[in-house]
Amino acid sequence: MSLNASIAGLYQYALTECMNEIMRPFSCMRGGLRDSSAQGYIESVAQQLKIAIVDADLIIRKKHRFPNLACMKLSAYYQDRRYFPDGNTVELVWSFEGWENYDHVIVSKVFTDTEIPGWLQTEFEAFKHDPHRNDRRIEFGGTGFYFDKAPDLPYEVEHHYPDYGLYLKWIEHKIKEEKGKGSKSFNERRFRSQFKEYTEYSIGFLTRGCFRKCPFCVNKKYGHVFRHSPISEFIDLKRKKICLLDDNFFGFVQDYDAGGINHSRKGAPPAWKTLLKELQDTGLPFKFKQGLDERLLSREMCQELFQSKYDGDFTFAFDKISDYDLIHQKLEIIRSTPMSKKASIRFYVLVGFTYGEDRALNANDIEDDFRRIELLMKYRCLPYIMRYQSPTDKPWKKSRFAKIYTEMARWCNQPNFFKKKSFREYCWACEEYYHEHGGREEHCSTWSAYCEIAKAYPRLKKYFALKYGEVKRLIGEPDFARMQRRRREASARRKRG
Ligand code: SF4
Repeated sequence: MSLNASIAGLYQYALTECMNEIMRPFSCMRGGLRDSSAQGYIESVAQQLKIAIVDADLIIRKKHRFPNLACMKLSAYYQDRRYFPDGNTVELVWSFEGWENYDHVIVSKVFTDTEIPGWLQTEFEAFKHDPHRNDRRIEFGGTGFYFDKAPDLPYEVEHHYPDYGLYLKWIEHKIKEEKGKGSKSFNERRFRSQFKEYTEYSIGFLTRGCFRKCPFCVNKKYGHVFRHSPISEFIDLKRKKICLLDDNFFGFVQDYDAGGINHSRKGAPPAWKTLLKELQDTGLPFKFKQGLDERLLSREMCQELFQSKYDGDFTFAFDKISDYDLIHQKLEIIRSTPMSKKASIRFYVLVGFTYGEDRALNANDIEDDFRRIELLMKYRCLPYIMRYQSPTDKPWKKSRFAKIYTEMARWCNQPNFFKKKSFREYCWACEEYYHEHGGREEHCSTWSAYCEIAKAYPRLKKYFALKYGEVKRLIGEPDFARMQRRRREASARRKRG
């Protein structure tokens, strides 16, 4: 689900997650495209400009490998001669230097913890304080800067076909740089594969929005899921695959538009089904990058989804322990769908979120995390741990068990470890590695942290011994009747007020 779309700035998940990217086109700085038509703007900028696009995540996060869709749309828009008859020169810039050579610089950032240089942060603060100041040479946009308050892209940009060539020069630069190191083991084909998200996928949103408004999520602007773009708006038929960034695709039941008008016809199939059919009809493998909302899954959804030509792991989210029974029920539905028997399924597991002050990140929280991991193991699903961080804080770092959060993420997020070793075995492997490589202390920090929590809370040891492939499903189905009864009772209580 979207969780992920959602947590764009928070989740390092894959990311992102992440294209909840929102950015002012620099046309806004010149008089406000929101208030005037694009045509009006053309008349006011009848000159060629040299524009730099800066994907700040790309520069700061050395391992970041996902294109910024807003940057791609902005690039295409500013080169579009329908809007700018004289044409503009637009380039991706992968450095914080040399900007004086450009008439305008547009900086975008998805992740809140991408730390830009101090001088640029100062520029951003000034821009935020007064976007219409005289010197508007540098513009800023994206959830990494504004979190959930990012202004929308103007319609003409948001719905522009992306510039899929924007990152190509940078990719060639990276390859040349690596070749230049002269390593004998360099394999260009293997090296290129890290850029596949830039070169192999058509990227876009079929729908946007989510109704859940989870407290940890950046995605709070819209109260419902609505139709966003037809596939034709972003598909490049020369590309082999489709990557969708929808926030909560299965939440698109009624055919709402962005204005909240419902276009569903009586007796029509659910809106998600129509879109899924369109996707299937392309014949191309596709994936939902932000994950899908497991809690909404029905048998019909499972059948449609698992019979699709899906690219890579099916990804869902398991954010909180209170969803345990519901997720359990949905896992049963998934694994009882014939097509899903061998499907590789992954869950984003949010940890370290405090839900206000009333929930400390103590041993109980760790236990809740391991209970979720245990449930996923039972259904042969892989957890992907995401440690919560707000735009200003990383609460898990203040926990007495901060090291356990880190190691839990390392263990789960590397399937090679997770599938072969229990958490205890993983920690012990770290200890062995430490001593084999000349560690001078009595124990490595991982094993020390493990011993500390295992000694203080022996009840957790049973979770630390869990091993993927050895954990059996519960005997019998979950007690769905009891769950339904509880839901009915809760709903009756709500009605009674
Ligand atoms: S609000 Fe929606 S998009 Fe965000 S985490 Fe929750 S379900 Fe996902």
